[in-house]
Amino acid sequence: MDELDRRQWTVPPAQGWLQDIDLALLDPADADERGLLIQAEHPELRQAIDQDVDEIEIGGATISPRLHLSMHEIVANQLWDDEPPETWQTARRLLALGYERHDVLHMLGSAVAGELWHVTHEGVPFDHERFVGTLDALPGSWGEGHSESAGEETTSPPVTEAELVAMPPGAMLERCADLDAESAAAEMQAWRAAHGGAADAELAWFCRSTPDPGLRMLAFAAFDPGDPASVEVVRELREDPRTRPYAVVWLAEHGFEKLPALDVAAPAMFVEVLAVLLAHGGPEEVADALDALGPVEEQAAMLGRLWRVDNPYTADVLDAVAAAHPSKVVAKAARKGKFKLVSARR
Ligand SMILES: [Zn+2]
Repeated sequence: MDELDRRQWTVPPAQGWLQDIDLALLDPADADERGLLIQAEHPELRQAIDQDVDEIEIGGATISPRLHLSMHEIVANQLWDDEPPETWQTARRLLALGYERHDVLHMLGSAVAGELWHVTHEGVPFDHERFVGTLDALPGSWGEGHSESAGEETTSPPVTEAELVAMPPGAMLERCADLDAESAAAEMQAWRAAHGGAADAELAWFCRSTPDPGLRMLAFAAFDPGDPASVEVVRELREDPRTRPYAVVWLAEHGFEKLPALDVAAPAMFVEVLAVLLAHGGPEEVADALDALGPVEEQAAMLGRLWRVDNPYTADVLDAVAAAHPSKVVAKAARKGKFKLVSARR
């Protein structure tokens, strides 16, 4: 009976319609039709794909709809065929810990994603042993921010050398987030040493793909200013709008470049610099910089135009000003700007 249980859990019987397809008629044993059933479990992603949107925000996390569904499909294929069997064993273990079905599927998906990363970035074949190692490490710190059903454990247990080698950058950084600065620095150094020449590329990939600004900021602490290869990678990250402010801050902090000046006449540059200040010193530093520019009415007028700037950090900057600016007039202008931005993107 285990096979039936496993398959029904993987793809539960569905009812209703996906566009003009009657879900009850789909055959879960067929990989393509299974994919449609998985889509039906994600109506919000279906809509994004129809509109050709590459990224959507769900519960505060930015995800690629297509990538998310691909992860689900790979996990479903593994579970359907029970190959490797460790995937279903892990699912049962996580269910026994009290996690919900969809959360468990996402955890398994994160292990698949980690393995895919190695395959696509290092050109190495799928490594069963490494994959099982990642499965065994679940839930790890997965529960935080994903689900209330997570366990209470907050301190990270010490890891062995082998675990450190297998650990993807995100897992290492989540551990470091719980440590004091000195222990975090030591752990990052050990992780760098364990990952050798691949460390910088893995960190860069993480910085580009994580939806978590806190972890992204922390990831930059793992680059080594004494290593020219690290510096080169950070310079590349400066060219990517998603990681630019963090890279600019890093290069300035380590004396490679100067922080750019605040140029009111060029709104696009203005957002960039405020984003740098936000990454650098938090919302207060953004508010201080604005305050230094002139009377509150002028600041408010400027923020009123800012929402039109197409930059991934525009919303963050407006949020920061709305939260931290001591002037009600300026904070309100920022809130209004954010509202216009959100409405415009809808
Ligand atoms: Zn999902």
